[in-house]
Amino acid sequence: MKIHEYQARALLSDGGVPVPDGAMVETVEAARETAQALFDAGTSIVVVKAQVHAGGRGKAGFVKVVSSVDEAVEAATFMLGNTMVSPQTPPEGIAVTQVLVAAGVDIERELYVAITTDRMRRTNSLIASAEGGVEIEQVAHDRPEAILTVPLHPLDGLRAWQATDLAFKLGLTGKQVRQFTAVCMRLAEVFLNTDASLAEINPLVITPASDAHSDGQVVAIDAKFNFDDNAMFRQKAIADCFDPAAEDPDELRANQAGLSFVSLDGDIGCLVNGAGLAMSTMDIIKLHGGEPANFLDVGGDASQEAVTEAFRIILGEDGCKGVLVNIFGGIMQCDRIAHAIVAAAEEVGFTVPLVVRLEGTNVEAARVVLDEAATRLPTMITATDLEDAAAKVCQAVATV
Ligand code: GDP
Ligand code: MG
Repeated sequence: MKIHEYQARALLSDGGVPVPDGAMVETVEAARETAQALFDAGTSIVVVKAQVHAGGRGKAGFVKVVSSVDEAVEAATFMLGNTMVSPQTPPEGIAVTQVLVAAGVDIERELYVAITTDRMRRTNSLIASAEGGVEIEQVAHDRPEAILTVPLHPLDGLRAWQATDLAFKLGLTGKQVRQFTAVCMRLAEVFLNTDASLAEINPLVITPASDAHSDGQVVAIDAKFNFDDNAMFRQKAIADCFDPAAEDPDELRANQAGLSFVSLDGDIGCLVNGAGLAMSTMDIIKLHGGEPANFLDVGGDASQEAVTEAFRIILGEDGCKGVLVNIFGGIMQCDRIAHAIVAAAEEVGFTVPLVVRLEGTNVEAARVVLDEAATRLPTMITATDLEDAAAKVCQAVATV
């Protein structure tokens, strides 16, 4: 699960990480009031930032640093109701309905720090770079040596000396070192306490030296968190941050029906039971030159209604040119899938090729159901095994 930047900032701030003041607003008028209040409180710059579940906002023009209320209003007017397109959004972009209006800071340096699950090392790792900011993906791609990784101890977590050592490697000096160490330790605490799978601050900035802060201040001005969905039962406060409007509508529908569904770019809709089988089904489709339109695991004991909903979603996806049903019935009974196919045929109709491979529990009963409904399933092609099914669906789609 993802949350918005303003929610991530609140988590960090509650955890003791320095974050500039600000508020999320949904109207231009509220943006004006918030900007006014921030200027009145003494800030000389304000940032207006689109709240969408995608990065690359800075480059897309959806992070604006302004120095007057009027400019803040102009920025909010531009963003609210507009659609942001960045390399991290779908091609059609994401509609902006919320903006964060926050106190801005002067920047001396931009660092990158994140804690994430490190599957290679089988632990969590702290990742940092001296070259944070909007080019971090490019830095990681072109010069991976500029990204430093520190594995966290599975039980003890991040140790202060590790963060301090990292501070020196990033070239921090004087009082910056202790501030940076504190930020990393607190980030690690928040990561652990919220069952996060990613807790990222980019940029973590060092502000210029001032009379009050001779070595500047270490401040988080952008944050991104992902959480383990399976932990939401014990993370009520995080679960409450869920914003359905920010989710892919098909993924949301699938989720509500208890299905694991991820929308992809291809044209072959897949309905499979079991995540492993779904992965290998996608692999074998690609092996035969096809492109899956989605990952869909209906799970072990989805109801007929849930499976029918799965077909509605798949058939409703733009650009679906064929469907592959691949079921290995263990707990899932093949006849339940067969009934769902017939229900979907009656309700939505299969105008595209439908390749069906069923094996396992109640497969004989399933074949009877499909045979009896054959006239309502004119595009159905039966397959004997996974290989055969993949070959048939790829061929059928190629000739559509
Ligand atoms: P992202 O592009 O979606 O990651 O959005 P960020 O919040 O990281 O902002 C992008 C860039 O805008 C940052 O890397 C900064 O260079 C700049 N920026 C953001 N907030 C401030 C601020 O308070 N002051 C200044 N001077 N620049 C800022
Ligand atoms: Mg950023």
